[in-house]
Amino acid sequence: MNGMNIGILVIGNELTSGMTQDTNSSFAARELTAQGWRVSAVMAVGDDISAIKGGLDYLLGISDALVVTGGLGPTADDITTASVAGAFGLGLYTDDTVLRRLKERFVGFNIPWTENNAKQALFPGGAVVIDNPAGTACGFCLERGGRPVTVIPGVPAEARRMLLEGVIPLFRERLGSREQVLRRTIKIFRLTESQIDQELTREDLAIPGVTIGFYPRFPQIRLVITSRGEDAARVEENLKIVEQRITDRLVDYIFGYDDDTMEGVVASLLTDRGLTLAVAESCTGGLITDRLTDVPGSSAFLERGVVVYSNASKVDLLGVPASVIEEHGAVSEETAVLMAEGVRRLGGTDMGLATTGIAGPAGGTEAKPVGTVFVALSSGGGTVCRRYQFRWDRRRIKEMSAQIALDMLRRALSGGDMLT
Ligand code: ATP
Ligand code: MG
Repeated sequence: MNGMNIGILVIGNELTSGMTQDTNSSFAARELTAQGWRVSAVMAVGDDISAIKGGLDYLLGISDALVVTGGLGPTADDITTASVAGAFGLGLYTDDTVLRRLKERFVGFNIPWTENNAKQALFPGGAVVIDNPAGTACGFCLERGGRPVTVIPGVPAEARRMLLEGVIPLFRERLGSREQVLRRTIKIFRLTESQIDQELTREDLAIPGVTIGFYPRFPQIRLVITSRGEDAARVEENLKIVEQRITDRLVDYIFGYDDDTMEGVVASLLTDRGLTLAVAESCTGGLITDRLTDVPGSSAFLERGVVVYSNASKVDLLGVPASVIEEHGAVSEETAVLMAEGVRRLGGTDMGLATTGIAGPAGGTEAKPVGTVFVALSSGGGTVCRRYQFRWDRRRIKEMSAQIALDMLRRALSGGDMLT
């Protein structure tokens, strides 16, 4: 069972022409690997009968199961179902339940029914339908010499859900797996990879059945703990032990778990305490406000977010005295502090957050090189300002500045050390 090899075939002309980047295969590979299976190969082919057949033949030659995505739609260029049936010498049948549900869906959404849609109720003979909880095109599973071949749509959101809710449970069942797999993601910010790595090589984290994956995604790092085994209680206990040990060591740098986001965590902290926020952004150009407004219900705490890019706007919109900017510069602790205090005063909020910095590539000086960023946070208890020095390009400097500003707010709200 473990040691099972799975082939991934992604289909679509948009993939082989480079118009769309294939994200389905990396998602699938990650999830399948996390199950303890091995990915034998990943292959992309165009919407072409012989290429699809060639891909299936090759992958079946080296795999115990296949995952195929793409080309299940109603339009003429979607030929995956017919190609798979053809490759295996199977006819097509109409699944009446799927057809009825499709027609009901069209009525429900008030979309005119066209006959080409009936194509989405066609399946190769002997196929078992895989439901699509996120869209119209169902997937299917065929068996070739005891090896399951699963086919799901290309739309990434649909492919992901169907892989997790349809394909993986099906593989586990077919392959007679009694193994339990539990996962926990820990999200870390402000530690380097080597610092984390050092913490993770400690002996007390080496528990049989537990692996720790390390996934940097700028500007943060995710640690994924996977615990597996046949005894469900043991699997859960092992996961908890490792999670607790990592948390104890890295607590200052952990901002969330699983699906948590930095902005979501900040939003909850503000909402739970009934506090309001105003944001003044120079070098982050609205990125902080953009992220906070991604959180549903952000109007409960976010009073305003202003982009104050020019010197004049810092004076006009925040009341920063022109003389301060002249004397210390727009990128200075003095200006950042007055920006945070100004936006908080004008917004009448509990907290004011401000950023100002030099994102480059030009504009740096010896005293304030490119990547110099000031973040200030003003509240009833006073104003704190931190100076940071980043490298990288404009985009990354902006992203890191926004992240660090949100983290500063998070730390202030959770009563932790602000760090420098
Ligand atoms: P639909 O019912 O939407 O037509 P489908 O199975 O026919 O589903 P496709 O037409 O192949 O799906 O692709 C739908 C969308 O998903 C397209 O925008 C395509 O670019 C995208 N897509 C397809 N395959 C992948 C992939 N492997 N990675 C990322 N995006 C993909
Ligand atoms: Mg397609």
